[in-house]
Amino acid sequence: MDKFVPDIYAQSIYRINYDKLKKNGIKLVIFDLDNTIAPVDIKVSSNETFDLMLKIKDMELKPIIMSNSKKERVLPFRNHLEIDSCYLSMKPLSKNYKKIMRIYDVKKEEIACVGDQLLTDILGANKMGMTSILVNPISKKDGKWTFLNRKLENIIIRILEKKDLFKKGKYYD
Ligand SMILES: [Mg+2]
Repeated sequence: MDKFVPDIYAQSIYRINYDKLKKNGIKLVIFDLDNTIAPVDIKVSSNETFDLMLKIKDMELKPIIMSNSKKERVLPFRNHLEIDSCYLSMKPLSKNYKKIMRIYDVKKEEIACVGDQLLTDILGANKMGMTSILVNPISKKDGKWTFLNRKLENIIIRILEKKDLFKKGKYYD
């Protein structure tokens, strides 16, 4: 069950302490797309997100998108935000995390992964030994297959809450 507990829990991508990540040796920040960067039914990123990515790049952290969604879904965000992306990433499987480490020549300790789902984003990052950061999903609406994950996620959250390992809405970094 420990593998589902995020290292950091923030309300949104705008509330993450990127300075602290940088101080802790993070060089690359992997962002999930759906419900982390944008709601599932929105096809373009906001200027607010663009500004955040700019700020992150200015700090000499490298932001990239890693999404289980298809190429057509991911590319408009990659283009507007001017950051690299990995689509059909198959999180929580390790294959594409390893590929990212190889391409950007970074170690697992130098990577933080931000996402809204315990079963993909958090489990994937924790299994890899990367810093895992959970954010609240931007909207209640999920992608086609995500509703199953959410059902399981709610069960996991209930177990974690019983064990005092995690509580929804109780943010920490
Ligand atoms: Mg997501």
